[in-house]
Amino acid sequence: MRIDIISCVPNLLDSFFAHSILKRAQQGGFVEVVIHDIRDYAVNKHRTIDDYAFGGGAGMVLQVEPIARCIRALTSERSYDEVIYLTPDGEQMQQKMVNQLSLLGNIIMLCGHYKGVDQRVRDMFITKEVSIGDYVLSGGELAAAVLSDAIIRLLPGVLNDETSALTDSFQDNLLAPPVYTRPADFEGNKVPEILLSGHEAKIEDWRHEQSLLRTKSRRPDLLQ
Ligand code: SAH
Repeated sequence: MRIDIISCVPNLLDSFFAHSILKRAQQGGFVEVVIHDIRDYAVNKHRTIDDYAFGGGAGMVLQVEPIARCIRALTSERSYDEVIYLTPDGEQMQQKMVNQLSLLGNIIMLCGHYKGVDQRVRDMFITKEVSIGDYVLSGGELAAAVLSDAIIRLLPGVLNDETSALTDSFQDNLLAPPVYTRPADFEGNKVPEILLSGHEAKIEDWRHEQSLLRTKSRRPDLLQ
């Protein structure tokens, strides 16, 4: 898979992809993440990429030309399955959406800033609009990072234990059961006996039951 992220603050993303699972995923060749600076596609020598909104009002708007040039440069090199704009008025990100996106080959993610991008960018180039939740961030970089992370950890081979992603919350519409590690007794707080028993089937049953209980009490909406 290849993910191209278009941003006007590309440095914000550098460290995010340079550590832990996301770093290993790139080094292992499971994903290629390429970050593009909108300013490199500016049409004037001052490298301007934003301007005042037509009709007035507070806040700058990212201009259509630099973004169009960047997206066209990419799509002339390879075909993309989705060109995603991260935006609070997009479809809300859910695990199911992430699962579907993880099956694709090439994705572009466009990060807005200030008041957002000129509507014509969205009309002409964007195939999918995604929100990471009902709140407003100052830029799309964190949202692109959140979406990329959720996708990349699903790519086969990225997580050490192949089954690990399947037992996470929201797969099967259930929240994950509680997990424990050593020591078995911390200041009198003991790990549930069953987990030390070695009975794989019973442990599976217990975990499923805990998942159900947790989902019922915290997110009953998932069970409907
Ligand atoms: N004026 C816009 C918000 C702009 S926030 C509005 O009211 O809808 C600036 C940028 O941050 C957006 O262009 C978008 O790329 C990003 N952003 C902010 N909140 C986001 C969210 N919840 N999900 C995804 N992207 C978001």
